[in-house]
Amino acid sequence: MNTTHDLAQLLRERGARVTPARLRVLALLRGADRALSHHDIEERLVDGTPVDRVTLYRVLDWLVEQGLAHKLADEQRVFRFSAASKADLPHGSHAHFVCDDCGKVFCLEEVAAAAPRLPDGFASTQIDFSVHGHCAACNVSGAPK
Ligand SMILES: [Zn+2]
Ligand SMILES: [Zn+2]
Repeated sequence: MNTTHDLAQLLRERGARVTPARLRVLALLRGADRALSHHDIEERLVDGTPVDRVTLYRVLDWLVEQGLAHKLADEQRVFRFSAASKADLPHGSHAHFVCDDCGKVFCLEEVAAAAPRLPDGFASTQIDFSVHGHCAACNVSGAPK
């Protein structure tokens, strides 16, 4: 599911317009070994047709909206993006695992992000339930624990 053709198909299935920028950014995120910042992505897009910064921001926001990518602020409060491992699920409905080494976000489908009971007068707009740690790839190559 990583060829440009498959990705174009994925976008079409959701009724989305397939643009070269969307395809390139999605392919980049899917092939990345870690979560990427805006800056990382800009640097990796230098080959081929340039994608200007405004377009890149729009594409990333769109991918996040579509549930195709996860956006998370790292410890330096820099936003990082990673491809969603399960593209077809609403990401508000399950928990996520966040790797503190590579910054990737993994969907934990079997863990429901249950809405807690809120005090009177409170309304939630988003549930963000994340488990932090080291992913399998980082654990193998990783630092001593
Ligand atoms: Zn990792
Ligand atoms: Zn998810």
